[in-house]
Amino acid sequence: MRPVEELVTRARAAQPAWQGIGFAARARLVKRAAAAMLADHEAILRLIREESGKHAIEALMSEALGPLDFVNGWIKVARPELRRRRLAIPLPFRLLMGKRAELERVPRGVVGVISPWNYPLGVFFKPVFPALLSGNAVVVKPSEHTPRCGAWFVEHLQRVLPVDVVQVAQGDGAVGRELTEHVDALVFTGSVATGRKVAKRCGERLIPVSVELGGNDAAIVCADADLVRTAAGVTNWALHNSGQNCGAIERVYVVDAIADRFVAMLRSAFARLRVGPGADLDVDVSPMNNAAQLAIVEAHVADAVEKGAEVLVGGSREGLGELAYPPTLLDRCRHGMRVVDEETFGPVLAVVRVRDEQEAVRLANESRYGLNASIWTRDVARGRALAERIDVGTVSLNNHALTGAMPVCPWSGTKDSGSGVANSALALQVFTRPKTLLIDTSSKPDPFWFPFDRDLWRIGKDTVDLLLRPLAVVLRPGRLLRFLAAGLRRPKTIRRFFADDGRQPSNRRRSARP
Ligand code: NAD
Repeated sequence: MRPVEELVTRARAAQPAWQGIGFAARARLVKRAAAAMLADHEAILRLIREESGKHAIEALMSEALGPLDFVNGWIKVARPELRRRRLAIPLPFRLLMGKRAELERVPRGVVGVISPWNYPLGVFFKPVFPALLSGNAVVVKPSEHTPRCGAWFVEHLQRVLPVDVVQVAQGDGAVGRELTEHVDALVFTGSVATGRKVAKRCGERLIPVSVELGGNDAAIVCADADLVRTAAGVTNWALHNSGQNCGAIERVYVVDAIADRFVAMLRSAFARLRVGPGADLDVDVSPMNNAAQLAIVEAHVADAVEKGAEVLVGGSREGLGELAYPPTLLDRCRHGMRVVDEETFGPVLAVVRVRDEQEAVRLANESRYGLNASIWTRDVARGRALAERIDVGTVSLNNHALTGAMPVCPWSGTKDSGSGVANSALALQVFTRPKTLLIDTSSKPDPFWFPFDRDLWRIGKDTVDLLLRPLAVVLRPGRLLRFLAAGLRRPKTIRRFFADDGRQPSNRRRSARP
């Protein structure tokens, strides 16, 4: 057996007992592991810094601080959803025929989690915690760029959870491909190109998959926005994690009326933000994670400049350390430039000046991506009306992508950002399948069971009329009585038929043509 298959096999063997201990016990153990992660945060901060070069404050605020809070949030979301519950079946089935139905959510088995490098720890919270709480075993495949962070996360779970419930499969795309072959459900977070391959293979295997892919988020700055707060917010969400965030603002549409003032504020801020190693608390923007991503950033900026964009700040890494790229502000950008059309995933913001908000909404929607967008305005009603027309998974008014840290809010996208839903009760679909239980307490056979006869035909025909023209049946007592009498006769007919053990001669007519 190959190594990945063996990991999945061990996880599959451990899963039934994990499911069997029930939600409360699982929640207690996952919470204990998350608390241990939080207590051990210095170690993961060191690993994140070593493996990704990320700023210490960013690593602390958006990753190391998160596990316990995330688990607590997910317990609140999952507990009521995973409870067995009674379904409101139609009244006639319930009252006349003695039926009731219940729904339970059954874990899929072994869930595979394939992750990118941009949040080497945080990227596991959304899929792994709910998968475990739902009663699945999990095999995690961290990015080959950040394997030790993945190992640290899994080790903390392994110390507390029963043996083999959580496993880690280290390696590159080949290991991810192999994992896709063996698990019962998969959560993939990463690029569009890989997500397409993964989704295709899961489709062939008929296993549920959630693909959460790239983004190229737009922000729209309206004329009435609080420009200072907006400049701070847009800058943060453009440069946070050096722009290596699927929910980073990559294009900002600014209405002409305030464009000069707003762009001047951005320019001044971008120019004063300090670039340097992630370990240094006196810098703001840390280097990028890897050379391949840096090359994409440089190519996008060069393309924009060639097509007429104006570099207001940054644009060159001359004099900077390895993998460092400066905060870069490009003005006079337009669609047709790679920096506007594609995911840049670096500390670069493209300013697109627009006549008005209507043009901004139209252009914001002209994208192959649809993860987040934000609208910056003092007028919430107007912002809400604009938000309704934007084609993305989450729109924020006067903020951006903050919901990613809230287990109760769905994190999802449209178009090339993928169809996956992370977080919220809606995400449980990938971790559990519905299982329905019907309980019949009636002593009578159902009237539509064999044998067929004229009574059943009449019941069917009268039901059509009852559904289409209820008064026509109810107001004609003769018809109503006939319907009810046929309904009462049927169970007796059926009982008589099946009570016949073959020892009495049958007088049943063979044909019952209506
Ligand atoms: P990537 O697609 O190159 O790799 C992601 C993971 O897939 C890695 O673990 C990799 O080893 C694995 N992989 C590669 N080929 C595979 C295959 N054929 N089958 C199975 N697994 C395979 O992406 P990346 O460069 O690591 O991450 C950056 C991308 O992730 C960006 O596009 C970013 O927007 C996206 N992202 C999206 C979200 C979201 O929630 N939507 C969150 C974080 C990152």
